[in-house]
Amino acid sequence: MLNNLIFVLNCGSSSVKFAILNPNNKKKYLSGLVECLFLSKTYIKWKYLGIEHKTCIGSNLSHKDALNFIFDEFLLEKKDIFNNIIGIGHRVVHGGNKIKSSVLVDDDIIQLIQNAIPFAPLHNPVNLIGIKIAIEKFPAFSKKNVAVFDTSFYQNMPETSFLYAIPYFFYKKYRIRRYGAHGTSHHYVASEAAVILNKSFNSLNIITCHLGNGASVSAVCNGICVDTSMGLTPLEGLVMGTRSGDIDPSIIFFMHQKLGMSIDEIHTILTKKSGLLGLSGISSDFRYFEKNYYFEKNAKLSVDIFCHRLSKYIASYMALMENRLDAIVFTGGIGENVPLIREITLSKLFLIGFKVDIKRNFTIKNGKHGLITTDTSRPAFVIPTDEELAIAQETIKIIS
Ligand code: ADP
Repeated sequence: MLNNLIFVLNCGSSSVKFAILNPNNKKKYLSGLVECLFLSKTYIKWKYLGIEHKTCIGSNLSHKDALNFIFDEFLLEKKDIFNNIIGIGHRVVHGGNKIKSSVLVDDDIIQLIQNAIPFAPLHNPVNLIGIKIAIEKFPAFSKKNVAVFDTSFYQNMPETSFLYAIPYFFYKKYRIRRYGAHGTSHHYVASEAAVILNKSFNSLNIITCHLGNGASVSAVCNGICVDTSMGLTPLEGLVMGTRSGDIDPSIIFFMHQKLGMSIDEIHTILTKKSGLLGLSGISSDFRYFEKNYYFEKNAKLSVDIFCHRLSKYIASYMALMENRLDAIVFTGGIGENVPLIREITLSKLFLIGFKVDIKRNFTIKNGKHGLITTDTSRPAFVIPTDEELAIAQETIKIIS
């Protein structure tokens, strides 16, 4: 039924995703993505009433440009569904140390999201742009905006996982700890896996890999997230599109002291010029690596480093599983669409019981879900994430 619809905004580091859906019956009336922000051609792709469309909307567009386009031009043409929206849900990456669950947005919450910018410098600012533009464009919904935080899923991690081995004082006074990110996605695909495996969520032991421009792995034991690869900020952990993931902190001292680089310059290198982009010197887009893996030396090396680190994380999380691992899940733009990285990663995990089924693995992409390992292997699944649905479900819970 065309009522009780939620508008969901998910402003990522390089894209703006949006959807209008009914969280009760899970029906998605409209979903869309503005991608290739800050590149020579920015596109909007959308699916409306089951039909897919794509068009170029300009060049070098920012998040603000994309949101203005969505609100001023795009949505206004879709009055039938637009008039049935009852609330707006926003993905916010970092809730800092004060926000533990989804909340109605007000001035205090905006301030707390602002305060957490140092912990998510690529994300919280664009999440705030989304919130502020939504409130400005739709004053009637100003008390119906809900912020759903990627950090909530990690609030029950044990101290053994979230504390860094630096003087305890930094945690006590400044709350420097591992907060994690992508929690909405990890939680969603783990819940879907529980359904596939016919298990209750609180008896689930699973390792979930969210691999997109940002990438992270989470270990869930008895339904509780017990560790994750992202840390104080979404910079720690896996190799990402433009982020370095784990490095020896001494590299920063070397760049600063021996190379004379400023802290801002080093920050830009590690967050915007590293990862796949830094290694290849060419692109952060996985489509490039998939196409050139067998032909370009740097493309192959970059992918091999990506998979090497991912497989090390997965293998180390086996130690947290209390005698049983039910499955591994791959999700996110890369996890869902690139059989190559799933094959390379799982082949490194042969010793702990994983064997990829080449045919199954190759056929699962473009929104399909399913098993990608052989019948005798421990199971690994591809489960497309649906952060929009998860956010809409949280939003309706809070506004009602
Ligand atoms: P984020 O939400 O962090 O911006 P996504 O989950 O959308 O990221 O994933 C983006 C990544 O997924 C990019 O590296 C992109 O190239 C890759 N990707 C998306 N679709 C495909 C595809 N069909 N084939 C290969 N790579 C893809």
